[in-house]
Amino acid sequence: MAGEPQADCLFCKIVAGDVPATVVRETETTVAFRDIHPQAPTHVLVIPRVHYPDAAALAVAEPGIAADVLREAGEIAAQEKIDGTGYRVIFNTGAGAGQTVFHAHAHVLGGRGLNWPPG
Ligand code: AMP
Ligand code: ZN
Repeated sequence: MAGEPQADCLFCKIVAGDVPATVVRETETTVAFRDIHPQAPTHVLVIPRVHYPDAAALAVAEPGIAADVLREAGEIAAQEKIDGTGYRVIFNTGAGAGQTVFHAHAHVLGGRGLNWPPG
């Protein structure tokens, strides 16, 4: 069924508690945890508990949960105190754009200067 946990998905395992993660915030529909290879002083991933391969697929199937992910990105920015200096929310989509985990996730990055356009 759409949105069901996938046995081979790393982030479904984090949602289930089968793989450890440094969780910084949780809601009924989302989990936020620190990226294991941080690219900035603050680098948190916000994921929906349900499994969809990318953010666009999530938004089509579960628009309310896609909105939850965006709201939580803002909550993380406030909690991490990067909202004042500015932060970036990124959804890498497709292997060509650097997506390596095919469970929708927002990267929340901040705490350093962020160049535009990104590489
Ligand atoms: P992406 O490349 O956009 O698919 O992002 C996947 C992110 O997940 C990368 O930034 C990885 O560093 C991160 N990552 C991979 N494994 C883990 C893990 N076990 N815990 C936390 N973050 C992870
Ligand atoms: Zn998954």
